Amino acid sequence: MTTSKDLFAAAKRLIPGGVNSPVRACLSVGSDPLFIASAKGARLTTVDGDELVDFVMSWGPMLLGHQHPDVARAAHAAVDRGASYGAPCPDEVRMAELVAEAVPGVDMLRMVNSGTEATMSALRLARGATGRDKVVKFKGCYHGHADAFLAAAGSGVATLSIPGTPGVPADTVKDTLLADYNDLDAVAALFAAHGADIACVIVEPMAGNMGLVPAAPGFLEGLRTLCDEHGALLIFDEVITGFRLAYGGAQARFGVTPDLTTLGKIIGGGFPVGCYGGKREIMERIAPVGDVYQAGTLSGNPVAMAAGVATLTALRQADYAALEARTAALADELGDILRAKGAPVTVNTLASMFTIFFTEGPVTDFPSAAKSDGALYTSFYRQMRDAGIYLAPSGFECAMVSFAHTDEDFAKTLDAARAVKL
Ligand SMILES: *Cc1c(COP(=O)(O)O)cnc(C)c1O
Repeated sequence: MTTSKDLFAAAKRLIPGGVNSPVRACLSVGSDPLFIASAKGARLTTVDGDELVDFVMSWGPMLLGHQHPDVARAAHAAVDRGASYGAPCPDEVRMAELVAEAVPGVDMLRMVNSGTEATMSALRLARGATGRDKVVKFKGCYHGHADAFLAAAGSGVATLSIPGTPGVPADTVKDTLLADYNDLDAVAALFAAHGADIACVIVEPMAGNMGLVPAAPGFLEGLRTLCDEHGALLIFDEVITGFRLAYGGAQARFGVTPDLTTLGKIIGGGFPVGCYGGKREIMERIAPVGDVYQAGTLSGNPVAMAAGVATLTALRQADYAALEARTAALADELGDILRAKGAPVTVNTLASMFTIFFTEGPVTDFPSAAKSDGALYTSFYRQMRDAGIYLAPSGFECAMVSFAHTDEDFAKTLDAARAVKL
């Protein structure tokens, strides 16, 4: 039998770090990756034959659980009709209808192949539509790996402590202005200094890439007002929050409507999909109607669209409130268990996500998230994994709960936590 250990050794010879996305290498938790043979519901089976309760869920896409029957059936049927045409297909239209109907700020949209592509394209559009170059982003927010966003980014960049990255021209990030999350005064100061040059503010309407950090009351409303006062566009990066905070995303839940929205993860049901959309007059600047160029050979791919349509159709009827209540109960109990062991613990939870920070908190932005004790997280992560619980291999991520997680999965998780020694 081929083991994770053997596969990782072989992978490291051919793939940088042995992985196709850095955080999977498990470096920040001093572990080696597990290679997955299959997944069903909320369980992963490794090539080593171990079964684990999954709280990564492909970093968010699998809100319905692995191998949801409707999604699997739709994808199989699509494959049987041909994998890609490079020409329009019916499910692209259905997908556009479903997204536009659900997300308040989206009148028109364009499908792409990843969240990175979505944010990169939305930024180009915002710059094209306003004729301005500068973008305001928040420290610890992650918007994919396009050059302009790789200044003080979260996610894998946070754990690797790369201040930006080599390969990004200084001239590119000079137009990226940074503020702390939840700090409206800082954004107001940036507008006071650069208002006429700011094309857009991009924000995760609930930060998920420095661990879970909710927007403070009034923060999103304040950004909306500042953007309106200065003729800048507001972009909600809902790659995590879209169809998770509510069916219509954070904007439906919080009642603040951005000019542009980026989506990914869940909308592909596990296939590579991203999307950007927004107000009609802005989206009509995109080629071929308008002059802002953006294209993609595999965009609107028939298999991915079929899976996306099946996913959104199932989610439209899902009981989000029940999942949120179950998630909060689990997260609170995990927090209590760890606190009783003497660890400093702050639990942030919203919808079907939570993060346990090993710090007294509160955690409201990147500097406060960064106080979380990395050694404690590593110890917690490793013991949980050994006990069959698969958490994110970084303390700066959200645990993702799905509609497929059962009470038995939760009980196993709590038992594992009770046995942890910190
Ligand atoms: C994951 C993520 C992205 C990037 O999406 P990819 O599909 O990994 O390129 C962008 N923005 C946010 C908020 C994300 O969480």
